[in-house]
Amino acid sequence: KLPLYEFLDRTAQKYPHRTAIIFNNWKISYKKLKVLTDFIASNLKKQGLRPGDRIAIILPNLPQTILSYWGALKAGGVIVMTNPLYMEKEILHHFNDSQAKFLITLDLLWSKINKMLPHLPIQKIFITKISDCLKFPLNLLYKIKTTREKTSPKIKFSSQVIPWKTLLNKNNKSIKFRPNPLNDIALLQYTGGTTGVSKGVMLTHYNMGTNIQQCIHILHEMKNEKNTFLAILPFFHIYGLTVCVNFATAIGATIIPMPRFSPLDVLKIIDKLKPTIFPSAPSIFTAILQQKNLQKFDLSSIKYCISGSAPIPVELIERFKKLTGAEIIEGYGLTEASPITHLNPLKGKKKYGSIGLPFPDTDACIVDMEVGTVPLPPGKVGELIIKGPQVMKGYWNRPDETANVLRNNWLYTGDIAYMDEEGYFFIVDRKKDLIISGGYNIYPREIDEVLYEHPKVKEAVTVGIPSPTRGEIVKAYIVPKEGETITKAEIIKFCKEKLANYKVPRQVEFRKELPKTMVGKILRRALKEEELKKLP
Ligand code: ATP
Repeated sequence: KLPLYEFLDRTAQKYPHRTAIIFNNWKISYKKLKVLTDFIASNLKKQGLRPGDRIAIILPNLPQTILSYWGALKAGGVIVMTNPLYMEKEILHHFNDSQAKFLITLDLLWSKINKMLPHLPIQKIFITKISDCLKFPLNLLYKIKTTREKTSPKIKFSSQVIPWKTLLNKNNKSIKFRPNPLNDIALLQYTGGTTGVSKGVMLTHYNMGTNIQQCIHILHEMKNEKNTFLAILPFFHIYGLTVCVNFATAIGATIIPMPRFSPLDVLKIIDKLKPTIFPSAPSIFTAILQQKNLQKFDLSSIKYCISGSAPIPVELIERFKKLTGAEIIEGYGLTEASPITHLNPLKGKKKYGSIGLPFPDTDACIVDMEVGTVPLPPGKVGELIIKGPQVMKGYWNRPDETANVLRNNWLYTGDIAYMDEEGYFFIVDRKKDLIISGGYNIYPREIDEVLYEHPKVKEAVTVGIPSPTRGEIVKAYIVPKEGETITKAEIIKFCKEKLANYKVPRQVEFRKELPKTMVGKILRRALKEEELKKLP
């Protein structure tokens, strides 16, 4: 039951001289990180931040993001991490919903934000630039790609628009806020918006801190060695934040923040900087495997890969393991649970296709999908519900939605799953993605897995589209591998060999790419909406 920032301060005490962050040609030790984040806290207080005030951070993965995060927590701020690639509408939604009064952002994003200012509740904005944390431009190890914007506009600084660097000014007043970890919110974290409107999830210091301790318990082997995390998962998403910032810091690892995903850069950085841990997501593994001349890069430093956030096809796990020699450990979580609830063991028995075992102190149960109160035995498919110290306090200003998913302290995940006889859990699909065709329940993920086995398929997803006769029918959207052409007949024949007839897609559409969320999850919702628009 610690304030979240204690994880940083304790590491700084234990390993003061270890490198906390490497960003190209810039390095910072844990001791220095602690001192600078203390300064940021005092300076934020001087600028008017009070405990409980929401402070938005709209930054790509940069050292400044990590510094600002810990500093704002020390000042008692409630962090609202926002995706820098979001468009106006999404940013407005986060601000209007959270009523954040403070903002930390990047000069490259200024034109976008400046335009919105009259509509935002913001009082103070702190603006950083990439070179704030670089020995710029000497000896750059690799080119840094950040946001879509390339040139920074002229910014007129004022008492409201302030250079971020001033937050690092030496300040002797240590003002660390002592939260009530059980009750005080550390993070107001917005969900990915994969299935609907993005909701603010209230995560307390205790929720977040417990999830770190649960990670340490299960992944204790990582704590005993000196590790380096390649942080490509965005810090604005809870998975990237908990694993690549919180957990990495708590075990005294070094973090390599990568501001923007480029598969080629990932390969170059692994080759040059030799990270040992690569937390990632299925779409990232897929993109890396698509690169040419993979054998040119030395990827042998990677000891562990972690995969979460979306289902990972078994075939992908095997190909990636062949490439790096490292095991991919699949886990599962959701924003509402800080986020991790399940993981395959690092050293013990792993099961491909399974999300593994529940974390310590975490109860997981499969219940019937209709009423949601009848526990089901092993092997039976139902909704996964979870109880544990990492489960959120509730949704911000949405009591009805909170009551809908938090019932008797159980979190209803909306995911359909089953548990096997050995207690391993398997995600079948999302409740919202279930296709009901001619009275049959069809889990699209099962069909997706079959499509991924086709040698010419790069990406695939199936969706239920309206049908006047069957309620819904299965439609497959397919991205062929580069240089390959496939026909609808080939796909249908392939599926017929592997699936019951009612599951075989009735329609097939080929595309160059699939719509995805900012963290690379395929947006079934968008494809379905396209179909609905076609209806008379
Ligand atoms: P929203 O809740 O706004 O629709 P979202 O579901 O993408 O967005 P997140 O909290 O980022 O929000 O994602 C959690 C969901 O991701 C889980 O409920 C589950 O459906 C999916 N997920 C996470 N890990 C896995 C996994 N290993 N296998 C299958 N699905 C996973």
